[in-house]
Amino acid sequence: MNSPATKARRLPLDYDLTLDCIHCGLCLNSCPTYRESGRESESPRGRIHLMRALGEGRLEADTDCVQALDSCLVCRNCETVCPAGVQFGALMESARNQLPAPGLVPGFLRWLGFRVVLPNRRVLALLAGGVRLAQILHLPRLMAPLLGSRGATLASLPVFPPASQRRSLPNISPSTNESLETVTMLEGCIQRQLYGAVNRATVQTLNALGADVLTPADHACCGALHAHNGDLEEARRLAQETIQAFETVDGEHTLPIVVNSAGCGAHMAEYPRLFADDPDWLARANAFSQRVTDFSKFVAQPDRARRLQAQFKAGPARKLAWDDPCHLCHGQGVSAEPRELLDLIPGVKRVELASSQSCCGSAGIHALLHPEESNALLDAKIEEFQASGAELLITANPGCQMHWQAGFQRANLKIQTQHLAETIADSLGRESPGGSPTSAPTKS
Ligand code: SF4
Ligand code: SF4
Repeated sequence: MNSPATKARRLPLDYDLTLDCIHCGLCLNSCPTYRESGRESESPRGRIHLMRALGEGRLEADTDCVQALDSCLVCRNCETVCPAGVQFGALMESARNQLPAPGLVPGFLRWLGFRVVLPNRRVLALLAGGVRLAQILHLPRLMAPLLGSRGATLASLPVFPPASQRRSLPNISPSTNESLETVTMLEGCIQRQLYGAVNRATVQTLNALGADVLTPADHACCGALHAHNGDLEEARRLAQETIQAFETVDGEHTLPIVVNSAGCGAHMAEYPRLFADDPDWLARANAFSQRVTDFSKFVAQPDRARRLQAQFKAGPARKLAWDDPCHLCHGQGVSAEPRELLDLIPGVKRVELASSQSCCGSAGIHALLHPEESNALLDAKIEEFQASGAELLITANPGCQMHWQAGFQRANLKIQTQHLAETIADSLGRESPGGSPTSAPTKS
């Protein structure tokens, strides 16, 4: 919990954005935290009201205020329904950037995660190896009772795969069909370590479509988690590193940048707003962000979808459900394409979940910071999933995939989750098929 500020001070947040809100309240029922708590201060309108008061210096960033802003999932569901075009995601990132520093222990953990681990490929790889070893020795489960609800969350995290499956992609993955185009692709930080299989399935799909895939060497992290949690200084530095890495791999700066992680894609498409005061970087960020495209949007383009469909193999009848990652449907406005692609796969019967565009509770590091609230959101979705009769859950963001897997594990349900790219690659005949990492550690 953040400590309260001692006196009201004017916070230099992106104040003008708060003025877009016309207080109509149309966003209230779309907000998961408002639906859960019923408190205006935990609604989009209430939070904007708080941010405006902070910006005007009429309010102290006290514990209640910080809690109300901190509990936001930054799911951006409110943006989708807002008639006034309020940019809630940008507003929340700017507000969190100005909140008082968290206490000593949370501040240290945040520094360790955001400044030491995520921006450094080698440190992250070492940590992934260490966590895997701890999981094999069942340490998270043994320690869970000491850590309360956070312990249960840690114990139900998916098992990190062996080092052979955490290796980086080659810098060039040539097309497996007639070469028709070249694209670049983001490997991601957590995605590379926990869901390398998703990256390989993404490459296999792109290669089957005739795309040569270039991946920047040594790129670490796009900075999405940093921005969502208000560390805008490090977010800017990582955005610069990311832009540079993709400029290096593509000297012409023209190739599409395919992203299979919804949170990263939404953030990378909005890099320009990090550089509003820096004309040189703003120009580079604008050129970069225009090339960012989500995997599903890229593949669902009609010519590519036709080429893909022609290569699908017959498969067993399967009932599956697609759950929209918030940063795909609300952050990038992409919701039809994943459904169109799933509907092309032989044997697949897709069922629609009424709550598919409502946050699963993962929300970056929200599930770690607020496990009870986060699990409550997911449990309601799991009930709906079970009632649908689906046997496989498909999504497209590592945090959501992890959270759903952990939820199924907690509920003792043997249901697999997959990234959309894995479902597609399975239908192309994946060399090492299967879903996401298991939750039951085995030595290898
Ligand atoms: S819908 Fe938009 S304008 Fe209306 S209260 Fe919510 S944020 Fe404000
Ligand atoms: S981003 Fe999500 S949790 Fe936050 S106010 Fe908007 S709808 Fe509510």
